[in-house]
Amino acid sequence: MLWKRNYKNLEEFVKFCKSKNIEEIAFAWPIKIGNAAKNPDIFIPEEEYLETGRNLKLLKKKYSNKINISYHRFEHFNSNCRDCNGGRKIFYINWRGQLSPCFWISAIKPEFFTKKNVFENNFSILKNGRIVKKFIKMKEDRKKIFNLGCPAICKIYNKKFYSKDPLLT
Ligand code: SF4
Repeated sequence: MLWKRNYKNLEEFVKFCKSKNIEEIAFAWPIKIGNAAKNPDIFIPEEEYLETGRNLKLLKKKYSNKINISYHRFEHFNSNCRDCNGGRKIFYINWRGQLSPCFWISAIKPEFFTKKNVFENNFSILKNGRIVKKFIKMKEDRKKIFNLGCPAICKIYNKKFYSKDPLLT
């Protein structure tokens, strides 16, 4: 997550991830909803938003043969970022080790957490299991009718998953 305390140190973060043999970093921007809306100080100053995106783009080029860098929901620099990568590239694991296809989705609907945890079970089995498949089916069905977008944002803003993403033009 890109926020006020880390956006000036992104290259150090990329190097750190590389040193841990991480293959891809998908950066995301916080959105002013929920607790984030109550804490406006966490956001990158608006005047530095585009500059931060440009820096990310330079880092992507500089480290292209070492680590893949992508931007989640930052359409100025990546036309593919309108799609939801939850359950494919993005997962969330809570402190119990339960897996879900995305933090927001599990916050909205806790049934999108696996009952089993990654401490005692194989991650690959969980990520290909019933819960994640259910999420992927829902988001693909939604996409067929309402086009690309974030099912979680649809649910938060429109009160239903099956609707148009209000934050994408
Ligand atoms: S549901 Fe929304 S926040 Fe979650 S992974 Fe998909 S696009 Fe991202």
